[in-house]
Amino acid sequence: MIISRYAGQLTRYIQQQKAAGLQIGFVPTMGALHEGHMALIHQSKKETGITVCSIFVNPTQFNNASDYQHYPITIDQDIARLEKAGTDILFLPSVAEMYPTGTDGLEQYDLGFLETVLEGKYRPGHFQGVCQVMSRLLTMVQPHQLFMGQKDYQQCMVVSRLLQLMQSPTRLVPFPTVREADGLAMSSRNLRLPPAHRERAGTIYKCLQLIKEACKNGKSWKDIQPQAMDLLTANGFRIDYVELADAGTLEPVNDCHQPAVALIAAFLGEVRLIDNLLI
Ligand code: AMP
Repeated sequence: MIISRYAGQLTRYIQQQKAAGLQIGFVPTMGALHEGHMALIHQSKKETGITVCSIFVNPTQFNNASDYQHYPITIDQDIARLEKAGTDILFLPSVAEMYPTGTDGLEQYDLGFLETVLEGKYRPGHFQGVCQVMSRLLTMVQPHQLFMGQKDYQQCMVVSRLLQLMQSPTRLVPFPTVREADGLAMSSRNLRLPPAHRERAGTIYKCLQLIKEACKNGKSWKDIQPQAMDLLTANGFRIDYVELADAGTLEPVNDCHQPAVALIAAFLGEVRLIDNLLI
């Protein structure tokens, strides 16, 4: 595996591979890799000739300084895992490499409605940060295919919008959420859960299943939402949102018409967890 810390070097190497006729797959991450990330790497390896992974904890997408400071870093393990999986290139830039003129006054993207709801509402500026880093990474890598997790449902929609704004030919490939045995969506932040909280963290997935089941049984959202919220609070969660939205637009919906997506964001102690399920 080639490890590059410099954008110029990375782009030159990728261009050579493209010139040799190889398809480029890209998996951007913030590291502390788990099986969810690795599933994206395996998918990229299946579908493309060269798999590029990036690890960069992007400061501009954190709206909470403490979350940024405590973001888990396990770089030696990450490198070993990527190597074992047959990743071709790991891009490991510094903040200065990604933002050579600093992180103030960066470009803003017109994300419309997407930025006003759910994660957009509860994490102001988060999706601007995602776009700032993704536009740079996409320009450096110029992949044929971009592999991202549906666990971050709204982020997939934001990046799809960014690709449109950039008039990029890159194809976004959303990948299903990889879960722990108790249903908890794998996430780097799970490493920060103390054992007592980890035991209860699977409740989010239970809630999503409860919502799906209740929808199937024809219950109305007005009745389902408080039941789901009660289950979370009874297990010690502080809720940001429990919502049902149109799966294509993320507009809120009040009945379980198809296709919809249920989305949850809630804190257990200091750790904020998100998850979603297509209904
Ligand atoms: P992150 O390192 O959290 O920024 O995630 C990097 C990529 O991995 C994003 O596209 C995430 O959506 C994806 N990802 C994170 N967790 C999972 C998971 N449990 N299953 C599938 N994809 C995931």
